[in-house]
Amino acid sequence: MSILSSFASDLWVLLFPPRCPVCGGLRSEGTRAVCTHCRMTAPLTHFWEEFDNPMTRRLWGLVPVVHASALLYFVEGGAWRESIHAFKYRGAWLLARDLGHWFGGYLADSGLYDDVQVVIPVPLHWRKRMQRGYNQAEYLAEGVAAELGVGVERGNLVRRRHNPAQARTAKSERWTNVEEIFAVRRPERLAGRHILLMDDVFTTGATIVSCADALLHSVPGCRISIATLAVSKHELGLDH
Ligand SMILES: [Zn+2]
Repeated sequence: MSILSSFASDLWVLLFPPRCPVCGGLRSEGTRAVCTHCRMTAPLTHFWEEFDNPMTRRLWGLVPVVHASALLYFVEGGAWRESIHAFKYRGAWLLARDLGHWFGGYLADSGLYDDVQVVIPVPLHWRKRMQRGYNQAEYLAEGVAAELGVGVERGNLVRRRHNPAQARTAKSERWTNVEEIFAVRRPERLAGRHILLMDDVFTTGATIVSCADALLHSVPGCRISIATLAVSKHELGLDH
């Protein structure tokens, strides 16, 4: 190993020590961010195996989506919840991309997502993206898209306002407001395509539903599926 590559590898270990971001335990060297034990015990939803699942059912009342799934349940106080919040920390883009690959592998194996043609990450407002330095949904999208063998479309769907609060109000009001929150710059690039919208967490669904609305309104003949890293068990009414 040259001095330079040895230095680079030392620096790498310094920035990203081989510890699992979920349990904090040491993990064996490798490209995967999360340790084997945490993968084995993860609260997986298995929604990707079924066309009709609690998340699609929830969404069908709000927006016409083809498929919807999340990798994990978002459990209050759970270690996974903390590590999803850790996306805000330095170097966490690596974790986001790794989790994207993991999720993407399941989506590819299910067969339901075979006709997805492009992945679009839910955009942050440019000011927020600048503050945070990156958008974790973009790295999740990268991993998922690589496993599905499709591309990621960036900068086409844009967020014009910070707050999706208007999207949470009554459905009739929502339809009058959504197009002001998200906009599609070049709808012709997406015409007739099956788009997979990717975000980190699905709680009320307000943000991702607003994105889907904006795409369905602006892009002729497109179809939308939705994938998020985590979903709130509580919001789906599954926590009792
Ligand atoms: Zn672990």
